[in-house]
Amino acid sequence: MNASTHRQHHVKIVESFDLAQFELGSTTKLRVSMVGNGIGGLISLPVVILRGVEPGPVMGLTAAIHGNELNGMRVIQKVIAHVKPTRLKGTVICVPVVNVPGYLNNTRHFNDGYDLNRVMPGKRNGTNSQVYAHRFMTRIVAHLDYMIDLHTASFGRINTLYVRADMTNPDSAWMALCQQPQIVLHNTGADGTLRGAAMDRGVKSITVEVGNPNAFQSEMVDDGTTGVLNVLSRLKMIEDDEQQHPGEPVVCVSSYWMYTEVGGVLEVYPQLAARIRTGEVVACVRDIYGDLIEEYRAPEDGIIIGRATHPVNQTGSRVIHLGIEGTIDPTRPAPAAGPVDPDVPNGVD
Ligand SMILES: [Zn+2]
Repeated sequence: MNASTHRQHHVKIVESFDLAQFELGSTTKLRVSMVGNGIGGLISLPVVILRGVEPGPVMGLTAAIHGNELNGMRVIQKVIAHVKPTRLKGTVICVPVVNVPGYLNNTRHFNDGYDLNRVMPGKRNGTNSQVYAHRFMTRIVAHLDYMIDLHTASFGRINTLYVRADMTNPDSAWMALCQQPQIVLHNTGADGTLRGAAMDRGVKSITVEVGNPNAFQSEMVDDGTTGVLNVLSRLKMIEDDEQQHPGEPVVCVSSYWMYTEVGGVLEVYPQLAARIRTGEVVACVRDIYGDLIEEYRAPEDGIIIGRATHPVNQTGSRVIHLGIEGTIDPTRPAPAAGPVDPDVPNGVD
C-alpha cells in the first residue's frame, strides 16, 4: 500500500471531545465524525485543538462553511503554525473546513443543495444539512466562548476585507476593530447563520469576509491572520503585541445588493471600497454585440463593499454590494441583516 494512503492514519476520529482530555500545552489533530455517507463511510471534520498551559477563554476559528471560500482555511493554518500551546492561555479550536462535502465539490452549498449558513442551528432529526448543522453546534460550538467565522465573496464577485458584527455588543465591537478592516457592517447575524446561532448561545462572534472565493490571496490571508492574532492577544491568550489599527474603518449601518434587470454582458465600474454618490453610473449591461442596453446608477451615497466581476449576466444578477455609512446608536439594537429568504441574501453572512 502506498504511503500517502496512510498519511493521516494517525489522526484519531472521535464523535465528541472534552477539552480536559487534551494535555496542557499540546496540539492535537483530530477528526470529528459528523454524518454517514452513502457508502456507509464517515464524513468527518478536520479539527485542531491548541490547548494552552494556563486557563483562559476558548476561541473557535471556523472557515469554509461555504465550501469554496478558501482564504479563511489558510488563515487558520497560519494561526496554528504561529500559536505555541506551551505559551498559550486558554484553548483554540480550529476548524479549517466546516462544510466538508461542499469543499470537496468546490461548491458554496452543502451537498443537499442548501446553504449551511442558513440552516444553523439545525435539527437533531432533520434534513442532511440540518443534521450536519446541529452536530456542528453540539460538537464544536458548544465548547466556545468566542468565535471568528471566516468567509469570502461568492463566485463571480470580490470583496473588501470587511467584518459583519453587532457593534452595539461591546465584545463583538472590539473583535471587529481588531481585524483592522476597511469596512465594518453593523448588523446582527441573520437567522440561520453560524454567527447568529452562536451569538444566541452566548458565544461572542464576528464574521470576517476575507477577499475572494476559490483562491488563496496571500495579502488578504496575512491581514486575516493578523486580525485573528490581534483578538488572541487582546484576550491575553498569546503574548504578541497587538498591531495598532491604522485607521478607523468605515462603519455601515446597512447594506444591500443591486441586481440587474436585463440580461446581457455586465460591466461594473467602481473599485472595492470606493465611495460613490447618488446618481453615479456604477455599471452597464451591453448586448452580445456591444451595444448598450442599460445603465445602473447608485440610488444613494454609499461605499462599495463587494462587486460582481463575472460579465455573463442573466436578469437578476448582482451588481454591487452597497454599504450605507452611518453612526451607531449604542442604545438601539443592531439592525437585522437583510431578509432571511436564503435566495435573496441582502448582505447576510
Ligand atoms: Zn460565505
